[in-house]
Amino acid sequence: MANSSNDRLGFCTRCGEYLKEEASICPKCGFVLKEAIPPLDPFPSRQKVLGSMRSTIGAVCLVLSGMIGLTMSLFLMVNQEAIVAEIARVYGDQIGSIEEAVTFLMVFWVVSGVMALIGGYFAAQRRHFRIVLVGGVFALGTFGMVFLEGSIIGLFGLILIWLSRGEYR
Ligand SMILES: [Zn+2]
Repeated sequence: MANSSNDRLGFCTRCGEYLKEEASICPKCGFVLKEAIPPLDPFPSRQKVLGSMRSTIGAVCLVLSGMIGLTMSLFLMVNQEAIVAEIARVYGDQIGSIEEAVTFLMVFWVVSGVMALIGGYFAAQRRHFRIVLVGGVFALGTFGMVFLEGSIIGLFGLILIWLSRGEYR
C-alpha cells in the first residue's frame, strides 16, 4: 500500500531535492538537514490509541469517584440529624461523639471528592502527574452508597492512570 504522506515529505529545505525518508544530508547539495521533518502518522499506532483511551477513562473514573464522594458528603449534610439520631438509637452511644464522627466523615468525603476531581481534571489534560496520583489516592476514600463503588471506581482510575504515566508532560 502506497503511503501518500511520504511524497509530500523529505525535500531538501535548501535545493528542494527529493530525499529518502532517513536522509540527514542532501545528496545533491550536501545541505545538513539538522531537524528532519518527522514523517506524518496518519494512522496512530494501536498502542498509542489504547494508551490515550486508558488515560481518558482514568480521568473519567477520578471525576466519577469525586462526584460520588461529594454526593455522599451532601447526603450526610442534609440528613445529619436523622442519621445521628438513628445511630444513637441503635447503638445507644453518646450523641456528641456520633456527631463528631459524622462531621469527620463529611469533611473526609468533601476533601476526598475535591481532590479526586482535581486529579481527574489534570488527568484529562495529561498534566501534573503527581497531583493526578494524589487525587487518585484520595479517590480511594470516596466509598459510596452501596458497595464502595466510589473507592472501586477510584482504584480503577488510579491503575489506568499509572499505566498511562508515559503520556504526561
Ligand atoms: Zn539539497
